[in-house]
Parts: sequence; structure tokens; C-alpha cells
Amino acid sequence: MEARPVPRQVQTFREEYRTQVIGPGYRGWAHFAFTSLVCLTGIALALGQVEAARFWELLGVPGVFVLANGVEFLGHRGPMHHKRRGLGLLFERHTAQHHRFFTHEAMAYESSRDFKMVLFPPVLLLFFLGAVAAPLGALCFLLISANAGWLFAASALGYYLAYEWVHFSTHLPSSHWSARLPGVRFLRRHHQVHHDPSRMGHHNFNITFPLADRLVGTLWREEREKGRPSG
Ligand SMILES: [Zn+2]
Ligand SMILES: [Zn+2]
Repeated sequence: MEARPVPRQVQTFREEYRTQVIGPGYRGWAHFAFTSLVCLTGIALALGQVEAARFWELLGVPGVFVLANGVEFLGHRGPMHHKRRGLGLLFERHTAQHHRFFTHEAMAYESSRDFKMVLFPPVLLLFFLGAVAAPLGALCFLLISANAGWLFAASALGYYLAYEWVHFSTHLPSSHWSARLPGVRFLRRHHQVHHDPSRMGHHNFNITFPLADRLVGTLWREEREKGRPSG
């Protein structure tokens, strides 16, 4: 991703969004630290409870990651890109705001205040903790085993943090050192293609790793596009 001037339409949207939505007290790095620390603390606390895990209990970790990859795909391809009753806020925040603030021609944030348009709001993390990780972890604890419950909670939080960190890295300036790391370079390109307005409804819905995109056939491939008109 080379640094190019931000298109005028995107610049206008960014300026309006910054004035109307990002309050003067907003601190991007505090937002990033909150997300990271809450997740890392939760993961450490949950893993600290695991005792002599058996092999099949450990298999729950990749199991949760595969499951979460499917949820990420369905959530992104579904309510984040199509207005659904009761979930309009997801569509609004993602398609109407995130995709207008960042396009394939302008992927990088300009200051830490723009993190508000990259990271999930802190309240969503608290909701995820209280309504997903904790109750489903408790269910695994009761129905399967104590280790399964703690490993579920740790894996769910791990996936949430992986999503946040990977998405964050895809919106870093191209001059950032992490942009040269092979895996990060691939994921940045993968997400950049998704930010092309003509492709966002069809391709690259995974953020962390494109497993579901590959299985469903929505993974964008450069060679497939050759010969097709863009747009
Ligand atoms: Zn994005
Ligand atoms: Zn999207």
C-alpha cells in the first residue's frame, strides 16, 4: 500500500466525522490500551485457572478459533454490510462510517484520534465479555469440564484481541515497520481489497485469517480479476 493523497470525498467525510462524532476528550491510545489490557488480563486470568489440561481439552482452542472465524465472516458479510432489523447500528458503524472513512485508496489513519473509527467501542468489549465469553465459558465449564470453560473464555478473548490487532495493523500507515512483516503484508492487502467499494459486498470478509473466505469462495484473487472491468 503506497502512500497516496486522500481522495477529496474521503477527506470531507473524515472531517465531518471528526467534528461530529469524535469528542475532544477522546484518546486513541487509551482506547487501544483499554482493549488490549482488558483482553490480555482476561486471557491471563482464565489461563491461570487451567490445571493439567488434557489433549482433547486443548483442542478446544483451535476449535474456538475456527468457530470464531465463521462468526467473524457471517457477522461481517451479514449485518455489518446489510441492514438487519435490530442490528442497524452495526451496518451504520461499519458500512456507512468505517467504509467511508477508509477506502482502498486511503487505508491509513491520520492521527490517534482516528482510532475511534478502527477499534470496536469499549462498551462492545464489555458486552462481549459479559454476554458471550463469560456465559458460554460457564456453559463449557458446567457441561464439559472446568478446563474447557477456562480455555473457551481465554480463546474467545484471544480471538477478539486478534481481530482488533489485525484490523488495527491493516489501517496503519504503509511506512510502519509492521507493514513489511510477511503475514501482516498479506492481511493488509486482503483487507485493502475489501475496502474497495465495488468489492466490499462480495470479497474478503475475514479479518484475522481468511479461512471462511476460502471455504465459501469469497476470497479475492488477483488472477481471477484479470480481464474483468473494475468497478
Ligand atoms: Zn477496515
Ligand atoms: Zn466491511
